[in-house]
Amino acid sequence: MTQRIVLATRNDHKVGELRGILADILGELDLEIVGLSEFPDAPDVIEDGVTFAENATLKARAAAVATGLPALADDSGLAVDVLGGAPGIFSARWAGRHGDDRANYELLLAQMSDVRDEHRGAGFVCAAVLVLPDGRVLVEEGQFRGTLARGARGANGFGYDPILLLADGRTAAELSPEEKNAMSHRGNAFRALSERFRDVFKT
Ligand code: IMP
Repeated sequence: MTQRIVLATRNDHKVGELRGILADILGELDLEIVGLSEFPDAPDVIEDGVTFAENATLKARAAAVATGLPALADDSGLAVDVLGGAPGIFSARWAGRHGDDRANYELLLAQMSDVRDEHRGAGFVCAAVLVLPDGRVLVEEGQFRGTLARGARGANGFGYDPILLLADGRTAAELSPEEKNAMSHRGNAFRALSERFRDVFKT
């Protein structure tokens, strides 16, 4: 019988994205990913952890408790080397207002304006977590490295994508969704986590 796994998000786009990233292993092990939108009573979680892994675990544990299903969650952000990993867990509200992508990256570019090219290393980081109904917690981290651009470029993606410059000269916002999934921090974290699915979801 198909084993359902809940992804701790109400964003159906993220559910579809993860189904695409994990398509092979989901088919092999007869697993199905559903979103929290199918569980309207599941509570919202206060993300008061201080690391990506802690916040992802808080979300996954709450979803596992609310649904009785194995639960996946992720937490991510941009880490700038010379800023000691900031904006980090504060990425979504770096400029003060949650989710104002443009204000966030413009503030970051201004803060970094005097930093020379060789010191502009940065990368997206994602912690992906699986919490099982018996309380076991599995955590994997993925990265997507580049350097901070001097200005924003590209129309795809979201968040800080327009200012993360990749080795081929494009920004992350100039990748197609498929290209980004294949190399992104989220893809890398969930692919690493899914390597452990065969042990966990033995048929
Ligand atoms: P979340 O964990 O997906 O909610 O991401 C938190 C914040 O980190 C977002 O609001 C973005 O500012 C930033 N972020 C995370 N992943 C990405 C990405 O793939 N591209 C650009 N920004 C990202």
